[in-house]
Amino acid sequence: MPLELVTIPCLADNYAYLIHDPETGETAVVDVPEPGPILAALNAHQWRLTDILITHHHDDHIQGVETLRTATGAMVLGAAADAHRLPRLDLALTEASSFSIGQEFAQVIDVPGHTLGHIAFYFPQSGLAFTADSLMAGGCGRLFEGTARQMHASLQKLAALPPETLICSGHEYTTSNLRFAATVDPDNPALQARITDTAAKRAKGQPTVPSTLATELATNPYLRAHLPALKAAVGLPKADDATVFAEIRARKDKF
Ligand code: ZN
Ligand code: FE
Repeated sequence: MPLELVTIPCLADNYAYLIHDPETGETAVVDVPEPGPILAALNAHQWRLTDILITHHHDDHIQGVETLRTATGAMVLGAAADAHRLPRLDLALTEASSFSIGQEFAQVIDVPGHTLGHIAFYFPQSGLAFTADSLMAGGCGRLFEGTARQMHASLQKLAALPPETLICSGHEYTTSNLRFAATVDPDNPALQARITDTAAKRAKGQPTVPSTLATELATNPYLRAHLPALKAAVGLPKADDATVFAEIRARKDKF
């Protein structure tokens, strides 16, 4: 049986996610921007939290971890490389690690770029990828620590997952991400359709996450730097993909 997924809006524009194995009752949260909405969701479902999964060290992803750990006794899992700047880890992860939530194995994917120790969690059986501030809906995270080349390589790893994979990212930035995407990919009908769909969801107060990898491949400019149309749009028709990616990312910073 696949894991059940619950999307939880937190703070102004963050998301946390619950995943629950109905067979064993094990439940994990991915990132803890604040404890209140997560405890409320656990209570509403009558689920017991067993694991806290951390994607990266930024406050808006970890600041509720200690409260949640104390309230639930859940184990805390995060990147070994960032153990010095994460809450105390019960399990320190590398890309070679695997762990399970209930009966389902998870894979750890290193996705440096936004931060150097950023990791993603991939659950192949349920087709879920928790990408936080690496691959985002219609965009990618800002390069605070890593290089554009690192982020490009990180996104290429995620792009190779099955297209039906649900991309569970960390923020509700989709509207502005897509507005920027249209400036470098103006003749893409899938992008125009996504802009319309996103506006309708936001008008109803609905989250635009998770998305599918297929949607991201069709509309996210950071996964499309290899295409002649995008290379031409940023004035780099002959440049390699990583160079075009870097130019797109730099333009977003000034957008
Ligand atoms: Zn972040
Ligand atoms: Fe963030």
